[in-house]
Amino acid sequence: MPQSDPDSVAREALRLIGPDPENWVPDRDGIDHNVVVVGGAQSGSALAFALRRAGIGKVSVIDAATDSAEAGVWLTSARMNKLRTPKNLPGPELGLPGLSFQAWYEARYGVAAYVEIDRIPRLEWAAYLEWYRKLTGISVRYGTRLVRVEPAADHLRLHLEQGGTTRVETTRKLVLATGFSGNGGPSVPDVLVRHLPKSLYAHTSEAINFEALRGKSVAVLGSAASAFDAAAVALETGASEVHLFARRDGLASLPVIRIRGYPGAYDNYGSLPDAVRWHQAIRFRRAGSTPPPDAIARAVKFPNFHLHLASPWSSAKPLGSRLVAGTPLGEFAFDFVIAGTGYSVDLASQPELRDFAGEILLWRDRFTPPEHEHDETLVTYPYLGSGHEYLEKRRGSAPHLKDIHVFNPAAFVSFGLPVGDIPSFKRDIPAIAARISRDLFLADLASHEKRINGSIAEDFSTDLYASAVWRSPQNVAAE
Ligand SMILES: Cc1cc2nc3c(=O)[nH]c(=O)nc-3n(C[C@H](O)[C@H](O)[C@H](O)COP(=O)(O)OP(=O)(O)OC[C@H]3O[C@@H](n4cnc5c(N)ncnc54)[C@H](O)[C@@H]3O)c2cc1C
Repeated sequence: MPQSDPDSVAREALRLIGPDPENWVPDRDGIDHNVVVVGGAQSGSALAFALRRAGIGKVSVIDAATDSAEAGVWLTSARMNKLRTPKNLPGPELGLPGLSFQAWYEARYGVAAYVEIDRIPRLEWAAYLEWYRKLTGISVRYGTRLVRVEPAADHLRLHLEQGGTTRVETTRKLVLATGFSGNGGPSVPDVLVRHLPKSLYAHTSEAINFEALRGKSVAVLGSAASAFDAAAVALETGASEVHLFARRDGLASLPVIRIRGYPGAYDNYGSLPDAVRWHQAIRFRRAGSTPPPDAIARAVKFPNFHLHLASPWSSAKPLGSRLVAGTPLGEFAFDFVIAGTGYSVDLASQPELRDFAGEILLWRDRFTPPEHEHDETLVTYPYLGSGHEYLEKRRGSAPHLKDIHVFNPAAFVSFGLPVGDIPSFKRDIPAIAARISRDLFLADLASHEKRINGSIAEDFSTDLYASAVWRSPQNVAAE
């Protein structure tokens, strides 16, 4: 039974922290925005709220998606029943209990109902985020894609595509809350891209027509959460059989990120020496991304689900309307293959970064790992500054990079978490907001100095206390 109205719980939480501070950032001629946040899903929305509470006005949030249902992953490509994240981790509420998922859920369904769920149901999380945006008043300009960032003297010129036309808007700061799509995009194995027509395969990040796979034989490549989720949906929708192919000889089951989740390691991760951060990143990569046990169980319960271990595909070729795959255990024929093979980080392939991708400092430029910890993938991650800003490869070559803040998974090697996932919010959103605030403030120091040294009206006159001022008897007698 609902306990109360979630809206009133949240409104009370917002009332108790007082009104939003006024925008303190001075306007500049020719500058449209102080900050543009690219990506209006969970990360971009929470960041915009943090900036508003920091008194930073003229913040615009844009998203390429047509509407809130299409933005982010929860109602599009995510297919799990429940989030992987523990239900009680802090998230977009940014320290305000009344704005939290728990407050929203308990108000809707009751305290006991919250106790009963072990993890957050995906559709409830999506509904909570929609509500969060409404209650905090974060508005997103949908249908607006950032296609190019052009550095200018002391700002960035953003080329935005809207309804088939491109317009330019200017901003002093840019936050990339662009999720996996902001780093290089889906990683689809060459064996599929080179040898199969697109009609025979899809990546898990795409909208997949599972109805069309009813009665069909489906292969899934990869063995992390998305692969199992896709396999389960195919089976639940009536695929005749699903074969999941893992490269490893067992499923990844070691959640190495969890062991460093205590406050000391979590809060201070970005200050660790490079060698320690690199070792942690390698440790995660080698252990692999663990699928949640219930995601495995959801697929395994089907007798027509088959798990192929140590079975990378060496070949794929079309055969009529089907395809044939070569594996260490022989050839298999399928009607369709789904790649649950994750995402790559390749800044040069991001259209919006093309003007200066080569100037961005990468881990390979900063750190040479010991031979046994070499990794061709991790070296391509950007080496970020403490405010999540890009740094320059060559000092002075691209000063505008300090104004681009990365709140997406490309920050993984620098900050040790899948950045943009819920667990990253508590640490990274305040850090980014604080850096943006500091940079904007110091960039206008002359104006702020003038303001803080300006004349100010007295709160009261001496009349208020004149009658109580001590006067010695001699003074009184002399008067
Ligand atoms: C199977 C699966 C399970 C997951 N489980 C969890 C979990 O349990 N817990 C968790 O925390 N995370 C989980 N995640 C990760 C999840 O992707 C993130 O938590 C969440 O989506 C991050 O939100 P975001 O706002 O950072 O990015 P996204 O949700 O990816 O949103 C990015 C937005 O940026 C927009 N965008 C991108 N490029 C541009 C551009 N150039 N111009 C304009 N707009 C642009 C996109 O349209 C999109 O709306 C899971 C993901 C998957 C696939």
